[in-house]
Amino acid sequence: MIYLDYNATAPLRPEVAALMRELMSKPLNASSVHGYGREARKIVEKARSQVAALSVHPEPTVIFNSGATEGNNTVLKHFAGERILASAIEHPAVLDAAPETERIPVTPDGVVDLNALEEMLKSERTALVSIMMVNNETGVIQPVKEAAALAHKHGALFHCDAVQAAGRIPLNMQENGIDFLTLSAHKLGGPQGVGALIIGFCGETPALLHGGGQEKKARAGTENVAGIAGFGLAAEMAAAPPDLNTLQTVLEEKLSETDGLVIHGQNAPRVSNTTLFSLPGARSESLLMNFDLEGAALSNGSACTSGSVQPSHVLQAMNCLPAQTASAIRISTGWNTTRDDIDRVLEIWSKITERMKTKL
Ligand code: PLP
Repeated sequence: MIYLDYNATAPLRPEVAALMRELMSKPLNASSVHGYGREARKIVEKARSQVAALSVHPEPTVIFNSGATEGNNTVLKHFAGERILASAIEHPAVLDAAPETERIPVTPDGVVDLNALEEMLKSERTALVSIMMVNNETGVIQPVKEAAALAHKHGALFHCDAVQAAGRIPLNMQENGIDFLTLSAHKLGGPQGVGALIIGFCGETPALLHGGGQEKKARAGTENVAGIAGFGLAAEMAAAPPDLNTLQTVLEEKLSETDGLVIHGQNAPRVSNTTLFSLPGARSESLLMNFDLEGAALSNGSACTSGSVQPSHVLQAMNCLPAQTASAIRISTGWNTTRDDIDRVLEIWSKITERMKTKL
């Protein structure tokens, strides 16, 4: 099976699996005072430094949690009752966390419309602006620095879901003016169910879970020591990302030879691991099934809701035609993708499109 669905989840790196296996065999509670407890504390603090290094901020406050869904909910719910602006292409973990959030439109290329954001900010006092760094469906890189500057100019704080950016582009939390940054370990080759909320200099510490005083009283619950250590190691390894640029060029040049095929966000800055394309007339579900039968695991883009194939809210926000939205396929690569994987997926694509022609 060729795995090209890294934006849904990346395969666990073997080094991370080995480390976690070793740690899971020990009774490690980072709040205990005995030797095991002190060992656990050291492990958690080492991982905190490894994850902090990814954020590029001089004094980041890293709060470990269960993943980006929790991180996004923690920030968005902290501002409940106040005005929040979020881009129309945010992950549901942002959009559904605070349903009263107002949506910032995007251009047809899938880039947040900064003029619209400024008009919205001018119209009424806003507490929080939430814009992701890289969209999970299209891979389009958002103008986070400019958006954060606008938010700050109008007295709002800035949250950035950087799940799909981490390990692909520098996060530059301070330079970009990000107050709250959410990360997830399993998109980086770390374990599922672990993530972090990183807080900059804004002076606010949102907390969703209350109870024990773990994680500087910002996230109650016994720390998942093995998972956190795995996240730390994955974050460190992600600091040297593979060159996926060449693979993307090969993939997109070949795909573009198919008549009528559209690559979404092609004219916008994009990360090199993600290609979302549509072939009007085809159906995502049947394309995915055909790829699956031939041994390639891909997605229709909206990874977290795939299984229940629904029209993508991202493509709708980009004003895509219904025939494009209905036929979208996402290829996303990562640390273990090879040229052979790309050649094979292109062979399968040729086979599928040949079969479609003979059916017409
Ligand atoms: N934000 C983005 C942009 C994502 O792509 C995802 C997962 O697909 C999430 C948040 C949710 O992350 P997690 O699985 O850690 O809850």
